[in-house]
Amino acid sequence: MSFGGTPPCRFWTSWRRPWDGWRRRALPYNTAMPAAKPATPLADVTDSLEQVFQPEGPLAGLLPAYEHRPEQTQAAAAVEEAFRSRRHCLVEAGTGVGKTLAYLVPAVRAISQGQRVVVSTHTINLQVQLLEKDIPLVRRLFPRVDVRPVLMKGRGNYLCLQDLDAAEADLFKASDPLFRKVKAWARKTKTGDVADLPFVYPDWHEVAANPDTCRRQDCRYYERCHYFQMRRRAGNANLFVVNHALFLSDLALRRAEPNNTVIPDYHLVVLDEAHHLEDVATKVFGIELASRHVPRFAERLARSRGLELEGARVDALERLNAELFAAFATDRAEFFFRDALGDEGEEAARSTATRLCAVLAEIQGDLLKQAREADEGLRDRLEGLANIGGRLRQEIHTLFFDEDPGCIRWGERGAPPPGTRVRKAEVRTSLHYSPIDVGRVLEEMLWPTADSVVLTSATLSNSGGFSYLRSRLHVPEDALECVVGSPFCYRRQALLYVPGHLPPPEARPTEEHLDRLAEEIERVVTLTGGRAFLLFTSRRALDALHERLKDRLPFPLFRQGDMPPARLLEAFRESGNGCLLGTQTFWEGVDVQGDALSCVVIDRLPFAVPDSPITQARTEAIKARGGDWFAEFSMPQAQIRLKQGFGRLIRTRTDRGIVCVLDSRLIHKAYGREFVRSLPPASRASLWRRVERFWSGGAV
Ligand code: SF4
Repeated sequence: MSFGGTPPCRFWTSWRRPWDGWRRRALPYNTAMPAAKPATPLADVTDSLEQVFQPEGPLAGLLPAYEHRPEQTQAAAAVEEAFRSRRHCLVEAGTGVGKTLAYLVPAVRAISQGQRVVVSTHTINLQVQLLEKDIPLVRRLFPRVDVRPVLMKGRGNYLCLQDLDAAEADLFKASDPLFRKVKAWARKTKTGDVADLPFVYPDWHEVAANPDTCRRQDCRYYERCHYFQMRRRAGNANLFVVNHALFLSDLALRRAEPNNTVIPDYHLVVLDEAHHLEDVATKVFGIELASRHVPRFAERLARSRGLELEGARVDALERLNAELFAAFATDRAEFFFRDALGDEGEEAARSTATRLCAVLAEIQGDLLKQAREADEGLRDRLEGLANIGGRLRQEIHTLFFDEDPGCIRWGERGAPPPGTRVRKAEVRTSLHYSPIDVGRVLEEMLWPTADSVVLTSATLSNSGGFSYLRSRLHVPEDALECVVGSPFCYRRQALLYVPGHLPPPEARPTEEHLDRLAEEIERVVTLTGGRAFLLFTSRRALDALHERLKDRLPFPLFRQGDMPPARLLEAFRESGNGCLLGTQTFWEGVDVQGDALSCVVIDRLPFAVPDSPITQARTEAIKARGGDWFAEFSMPQAQIRLKQGFGRLIRTRTDRGIVCVLDSRLIHKAYGREFVRSLPPASRASLWRRVERFWSGGAV
């Protein structure tokens, strides 16, 4: 552990003093908050973290299967030191450390001193685990601390009662059976949360709360509004569970409208699954226009009762949008605008965008004019539609005409994800305007906002420690660091097998190379009796190997894309001997414990696709300042990715299995050894007989 703070038992005696001078910020949504209570005295048993986590301690008393892990106490001490000294902190805690409790225990101890804490996650699964399991546990652990948790989701997750009424004015809704089911659900739901809707409603965006149509205090449903009820609950809370997208959007709002933030003011932040932060920030701080956004708006206008718009104008919206997106008809999955359009095409696309903006402006003007003469119900609806039109116009304008040298224009094309309800087969195109260096934005918005921000994950560092993460996110220099390895015995439990006889992979693998990979996969999964994840770095490789393996293996194959990921995983588990072939989704966050998963095969070192525009722009930016793009960016990113894939295998102390990486650069290249150094310390083999020996229980 490189964290070098004072042991908590020594600083605990001076715990109160540092908080005393902390500023109290305004609480715009906290009207219902009672007067501040005096700090709750902690029970003697919680006087030090060691006591909380010790083998016979209070946590052990609450958890029958509790295992004392020194790594967990170390991680908790790092978090507590960061909170106490008001510094930021990077904590990597390997699989099985129990990092959630390692930050929740210090968080609750800080709450007992009047602090408010945000815990942000990337996935819904982790939010559910926090709310249903870990937070109730720490509340029982510290019964005298008044922990008031609240789950906060983005506005679009909540039903808008006003827009539900407005949707009835839609000419087609009245006869839509799904809409009637939504109405019936709306009468019963206590949360209004789309996650509680027991079926998929493709037009949810039309009835979801959104800033364009929301009337706030002027809305007749304001008191009953699900979204504002959640915000009122948040006003009285001291532990906010959010996701990264909401947390980062709120940071932006804090700068633009400091009195209108969504998350009430806080002192301390824990960002779990923090390895996603750069990607989420790239989305949140950028702009995205999907090919379906304008047609959705046009459809809504065309179906609205009481609205008098020239049909030709609405048609023009659809026509110009189709013209705009047709210009990006490339066979590349991701592209820069300039590459897809060429110089002339770029000019033509700008001209189309200008005309589209003009039509949107005319429609917006018309809607506002009609709103002024309409009665109250219709007026609200028309103003809401005008706001949607205005926002679309603003986004299109920024996308095509903004000239920030720190941003790039790029696009992506692809089929909708499996399981998505679409009315017809379609290729979706999304256009983006994204910041190249989100660290610059975080430097302004994240690091100065809270007294202490803790970034944590099982995969934050690489063989160069935290230098990659620090440079990507502009982490302040004085941030603390803590790396604690997994408590599992990787040498005994896992074998890293790299077939040394395979030639290094080509940029585009040859048919012959793919044949050799298929042979190697067949050999290793036959040994483990299936029960394997086959993780690929590209869809093309996945399909090519699926084609070769489907008639050769005596095990059921489950291919990503054939069904929604959760269903695919369930089918894999139920099979008992299946092989799951996956790309991105299955490299991380998937937890298959025990014998059900005994083998992970990785097709090659997971370097980012070099022609992805975001990767290219970031690589160019490093070159432009004279940096080494491979050592600073490409390699550490791939190391973290490989660590995530590797991490699928060993989930408990009793798991055992093989990770096979079909890329001999891992042993033949100098940088390959850096990759190995960044992985958990498993046994290693490059010869098949040693693999067989490991599998039969012998030493390698
Ligand atoms: S307050 Fe806003 S979000 Fe809530 S029901 Fe009214 S318009 Fe919809």
